[in-house]
Amino acid sequence: MVSSAIDLLKKEIPLEQESVVLAEDAVNGLVLVDIIHGFCTVGAGNLAPREPNRQISEMVEESARIARIFCEKKWPVMAFIDSHQPNKPEKPYPPHCIVGSHESNLVPALQWVEKEANVTIRRKDCFDGYMGSFLPDGSNLFVDWIKNNHIKSLLVVGICTDICVLDFVCSTMSAKNLGFLHPLNDVVLYSRSCATFDNPLHVAKNTNSALPHPQEFMHHVGLYMAKERGAIIANKISLGTNI
Ligand SMILES: [Zn+2]
Repeated sequence: MVSSAIDLLKKEIPLEQESVVLAEDAVNGLVLVDIIHGFCTVGAGNLAPREPNRQISEMVEESARIARIFCEKKWPVMAFIDSHQPNKPEKPYPPHCIVGSHESNLVPALQWVEKEANVTIRRKDCFDGYMGSFLPDGSNLFVDWIKNNHIKSLLVVGICTDICVLDFVCSTMSAKNLGFLHPLNDVVLYSRSCATFDNPLHVAKNTNSALPHPQEFMHHVGLYMAKERGAIIANKISLGTNI
């Protein structure tokens, strides 16, 4: 899609973003969505970037920076990791992030989080980390994580803005509105720490069964749809005691 067309479409659904201050005297939670080789490392698999991608590399760098801050504060962090059973396809996508594969591991900039006491790792076999947090006994690891840690504000980062990140935000907003996530107040999507993949129309046309997916526009749409559910879209995050 040419940039002038993207600009025209973006003007039809303008996205106002906020500068968000995370209260240092309350518990803030951080959710990392699928920041793994299979979606972020060049050439790592069927859904990995084919060449270096600025939106994705900036998302990784900024997410690692935010994760460091949360770990220094000992605030709770949950990392969702796409991990599929080899016999369970996730249509319309080709096989990706199979359990035990290199694709299904955190990127090097975030591998250190696995050793941190405040970090919960959740491997999921579906798009949506909320749905993927249900345990066989019917309880939900994410819901219990919010409640047990008394999380008031939730910061969400990761990939893909318009797929796994959005699905998780949609489920979380519905659960919050139903009263399942007390005391959670705010769900904040940090746009600079979100990214999606690039599969422009002229490439998709030559690839069997791949949907066209212009990166910049779909990233914008993903953020916009999260805002439609009531999430706060932030382009700046800082720490303070005034909220
Ligand atoms: Zn997947």
